[in-house]
Amino acid sequence: MSSDFQSLGLAPELVRAVADEGYTQPTPIQSQAIPLILAGRDLLAAAQTGTGKTAGFTLPILQRLAAHAHKPAPKTVRVLVLTPTRELAAQVEEAVRTYGKHLRVSSAVVFGGVGIVPQIAALKRGVDILVATPGRLLDHVGQRTVDLSKVEVLVLDEADRMLDMGFIHDIKRVLAQLPKRRQNLLFSATFSDEIRALAHGLLHDPATVEVARRNEASALVTQVMHPVSKERKRELLRDLIAQGDWRQVLVFTRMKHGANRLAEQLNKDGLEAAAIHGNKSQGARTRALAGFKDGSVRVLVATDIAARGLDIEQLPHVVNYELPNVPEDYVHRIGRTGRAGSPGHAVSLVSPDEYAYLRDIERLLKKPIERMVVPGFEAGKPGTIPVEDERRPPRPQQRTAKPHAPIKHAARPAEAKRGEHRHPRPVEAQPKRSHAPHPPRPAKPAQTSAHSAQRHERRPRRDEDGNVRSNLPPALQAAFRRAR
Ligand code: AMP
Repeated sequence: MSSDFQSLGLAPELVRAVADEGYTQPTPIQSQAIPLILAGRDLLAAAQTGTGKTAGFTLPILQRLAAHAHKPAPKTVRVLVLTPTRELAAQVEEAVRTYGKHLRVSSAVVFGGVGIVPQIAALKRGVDILVATPGRLLDHVGQRTVDLSKVEVLVLDEADRMLDMGFIHDIKRVLAQLPKRRQNLLFSATFSDEIRALAHGLLHDPATVEVARRNEASALVTQVMHPVSKERKRELLRDLIAQGDWRQVLVFTRMKHGANRLAEQLNKDGLEAAAIHGNKSQGARTRALAGFKDGSVRVLVATDIAARGLDIEQLPHVVNYELPNVPEDYVHRIGRTGRAGSPGHAVSLVSPDEYAYLRDIERLLKKPIERMVVPGFEAGKPGTIPVEDERRPPRPQQRTAKPHAPIKHAARPAEAKRGEHRHPRPVEAQPKRSHAPHPPRPAKPAQTSAHSAQRHERRPRRDEDGNVRSNLPPALQAAFRRAR
């Protein structure tokens, strides 16, 4: 059974802990990473959430700590794990406690949005493993309630997302607090140039482990897209959930207001739903997640940032209520399902104004997503393409549709261009520090002021949820609506 974990070199206490969790086989990332980490190597690992990466670094770290057990000095930390979000920090620390339950290893977690005083108390006597988000950790550094000069192992978990969220400066400030000699482990779903640059400055002679090809969706996830008009998405979602008897559904929206509104409407429809996003208090987020895990909340509506790293075992259904405008986020989203060997189901409700996003996603996946029209919810009839797109002159670098594209794509709306819509990220994604956020992708070419003025003029007006508003007079808008 768990002798496979034993043959990786793990101590009996850890083998027992994974057996308690019901794991019988190490996942590929675990088979590859555990011996390397036990050997003290630095590691650059490409692994998405859902691959078992948390146990992949937690198990060998616990073993190394136990093998060289000593009481940490007050306020010091032996292992520092940095994560981009509060939820992921909480989940990683929970994993540390789960896998370390037969060992005498102390752990703590610190993140923003909750009181700092209990965290100060937890750090006071020193901890073996500290899991932290960068902003709050730096608050502790500033208040001298933590001492990072004794860190033996540093883990950057979901490093790509930390860079996307503009944490690079915070990461550098944390690195400046660490001793030179230490083991470094960097986990990232993608290997962008920025990640490679970060790795280059951080890792010494790293071993590289890659368990899934870059941005590859899990083969266990069946993906389907339903074309539908924007106005009828909620109705379609309600019917899919009710008629399919889906018991646990994670629904993604792009904006926080959208998440709230959708959860409210689904509740009115008789489906127990909760929203989770950065404007919610930590308590509300934890309650929503707990309800979702225990089955009292059937539908969890989340924004990308809030859902990042959510560890919900065997989540059967993920719905893209709105497609993400960053194609990689689609892969992250559907990675919530089809985890650790169980099959998953990812559904996207796509309105005609999102076809450009769909095209980008299919290009990234290198295959079309199966299109399935739900009878009664047909969309995409002539005239349903947003009015602005028909009026706007084509952009100079407008891309042509891929030959394999399964549907006729609308022109990409100007606001959908990568980078514009992404920044600012939802509030919870922004580090609180005063520095300007780091751009997530290579900077766009500099533009002349005339150029940007022209772009500004063309940019359509949007409502509070970021939806395109028509610039036409109300009477004409009504005429168009009637014509659809
Ligand atoms: P992670 O990629 O770390 O977020 O892990 C995803 C899920 O896989 C978690 O719910 C783990 O409990 C589970 N898991 C981790 N390792 C194994 C394993 N060897 N066998 C089965 N499930 C696992």
